[in-house]
Amino acid sequence: MSTFSGFLDEIEYVSIDRFTQLNFRSKAFFLSHCHTDHMIGLNEINSEVQLPGSLYLSEISKVIVQRRYPAVKNLVILKIGEATPISFAISECDEIDQSIGRTSVTAIPAGHCPGSVMFLFEQGNKRILYTGDFRLYREDIEGIIALKKFHENINLDCLYLDSTFLSLDYAYFPKQRESINTIIELTEKWLEANPKNICIIRPTAMKWRKLAANDIHYESHAEVPNSYSVCYSNHSSHDEIKFLIQYLRPKIVKLNVVPNNVCQKNAMYGVLDEITKEYQTDEQKIDMEVQESKCIEYNFHRITSIATKSSISLEKDEISLLKVKKRRRI
Ligand SMILES: [Zn+2]
Repeated sequence: MSTFSGFLDEIEYVSIDRFTQLNFRSKAFFLSHCHTDHMIGLNEINSEVQLPGSLYLSEISKVIVQRRYPAVKNLVILKIGEATPISFAISECDEIDQSIGRTSVTAIPAGHCPGSVMFLFEQGNKRILYTGDFRLYREDIEGIIALKKFHENINLDCLYLDSTFLSLDYAYFPKQRESINTIIELTEKWLEANPKNICIIRPTAMKWRKLAANDIHYESHAEVPNSYSVCYSNHSSHDEIKFLIQYLRPKIVKLNVVPNNVCQKNAMYGVLDEITKEYQTDEQKIDMEVQESKCIEYNFHRITSIATKSSISLEKDEISLLKVKKRRRI
């Protein structure tokens, strides 16, 4: 579930995957894909309240948005792989930095659901990649032309990352094709046994911790005959995320899916540090730590103020973990 605010720290006046009133100070809008946690605010749009700028999206997402939110206007289709200049809705009285006139965006397939894309923003020397939700394998990533330059010689300034499975518990998932083949095999067997049998399909990856490459990625349930769980993921595994980060070598990585639980959150940043330390310079490591400590500080103040206001007692472990983390960052 995305926890991203919609704003990029590096490029002003854009909002991605968030369309609340708070985002209305932006002058161009972007939708990575049509899942509800990425479309927050679109349901509030009507004939009187419109987004104050165009909404850039893929061709498939446009069809879905038009059906689901017909009141949303100014939809602009991005061609895959093509750098497109962004048109900001600027009025004469807006006093804004002229550099925004030189901003482009490239949509890159994200492999998450129909129409899902990543956005590569380029403004002068700044280059920012927002992944949205993604499921890409090593060979997919190596084949994306728009990303090759970051692997070869150009710096990616910041990667806004789908961190849903940034945990060693989810190091490996079977490829989607393998999972689909398993689902087909199991359903065929069941339907052949009796033409009156029916199938209900609910694939999931969340329960599949500690899976390895040669493990069987489905299991039957003794309590419900002919009921199986199949591991199927629309988000990349830890190992796939690790490959993307180390392939692109971004100076800074910011996480789009951050758990509320402090221990889980710290563990996630620990995993990220392990991945980035293999290529980052000392200067970049410090920048990353500053970014992470901002996040930890924010969390510390938020939790302690909630606890004070509502007399919730924090677990001792949570407080000491926060303090340890703060000390380490300082
Ligand atoms: Zn999604």
